[in-house]
Amino acid sequence: MLADKDRIFTNLYGYQDWRLPAAQARGDWDDTKALMARGQDAIIEEIKASGLRGRGGAGFPTGMKWSFMPKESKDGRPSFLVINGDESEPGSCKDREIIRHDPHKLIEGALIAGYAMRARAAYIYVRGEFIREAETLFAAVQEAYDAGLIGKNASGSGYDFDVFVHRGAGAYICGEETAMLESLEGKKGQPRLKPPFPAGAGLYGCPTTVNNVESIAVAPTILRRGAAWFSSFGRENNKGTKLFQISGHVNRPCVVEESMSIPFGELIETHCGGIRGGRENLLAVIPGGSSVPLVPAEQIWDAPMDFDGLKALGSGLGTAGVIVMDKSTDIVRAISRLSYFYKHESCGQCTPCREGTGWMWRMMERLRVGDAELHEIDMLQQVTKQVEGHTICALGDAAAWPIQGLIKHFRPELERRIAERGASFAEAAE
Ligand code: SF4
Repeated sequence: MLADKDRIFTNLYGYQDWRLPAAQARGDWDDTKALMARGQDAIIEEIKASGLRGRGGAGFPTGMKWSFMPKESKDGRPSFLVINGDESEPGSCKDREIIRHDPHKLIEGALIAGYAMRARAAYIYVRGEFIREAETLFAAVQEAYDAGLIGKNASGSGYDFDVFVHRGAGAYICGEETAMLESLEGKKGQPRLKPPFPAGAGLYGCPTTVNNVESIAVAPTILRRGAAWFSSFGRENNKGTKLFQISGHVNRPCVVEESMSIPFGELIETHCGGIRGGRENLLAVIPGGSSVPLVPAEQIWDAPMDFDGLKALGSGLGTAGVIVMDKSTDIVRAISRLSYFYKHESCGQCTPCREGTGWMWRMMERLRVGDAELHEIDMLQQVTKQVEGHTICALGDAAAWPIQGLIKHFRPELERRIAERGASFAEAAE
């Protein structure tokens, strides 16, 4: 279990005040000027050495991402940092806690990360439904401006850096980085074709890096405590501490900071009071937010909760939004409900996603009640394969993977429903 002294987020539950004096008492904004004085390249190297991988789902190495940004502008275009606080993934609820309870960690991180990548400003894109959270963040940004921590000569560093907070309007797809850029520019939130990648042409056509809230918020602490400290947690290639968000059928759902690679069973027993009805009652887990395939109970218990551990099980860490389902769950209905979500949130730009998500949901609804032929299970699998990897953005994959996980691990359940419905019709006919 992660010791309290090693927690980065010391006000995760809001037991203390979020405002600047309390944040400073917790160590935020402590000689930020000295951190910046290390130099842009040194900061990027430290983040690289820490092994930090993006906390928004894709797990791309954060320091490397920062290093893609141009070191100088050849054509006068400024660079921007965009911080993704859209957090619309079902099961994910960590960025919200950072924004409302520890906003200064995020703002200080924005300054340091923005400085390291030579950005002129940071845009923090907050999910539209996070009304109170956005109010807190607006107020915290104003506090930072008033104290001279950001703005002109930010923190006395000689570097000018602005932070803007932008509220989204509630579309899931705006969490996709290029859709977020479109939305920030005032357009409809639809993902862009890549290339060009945001580091070349992002917000307003300028070099841009999009990072998750948690990835940015941990940066100041990594610099203060050192890359070696951060990388002392977790397994090789899966370093650091991580906010896990456990929901569903556990005794005490919670958001908790833990060491990467903690085994699933330990995470649940230590922080959530165990599975509702006991370990034997566990049916399956969606370990990384709704867009990753589920893992059945017998495979998940001892699995390390990290990028590689869950990939080895055919799933993923995603945002570490861990959805726990016990044996009372109608697993087919649960996945069908997720299919409806992706159908609803498809932006409609590409045909496999726009049409495929609807097909998949309608087939899932029929399978839910067994109103299908056996061969349609394979047909559904084929449809998921025709959607996966054939779309502009990852929403197509996100819609396909939960169904693939269901077919892989719960095919007998689908077959049972079809057989039962067939039998009841035959009985009625007799
Ligand atoms: Fe839009 Fe779906 Fe295509 Fe993404 S995959 S661009 S959400 S239609």
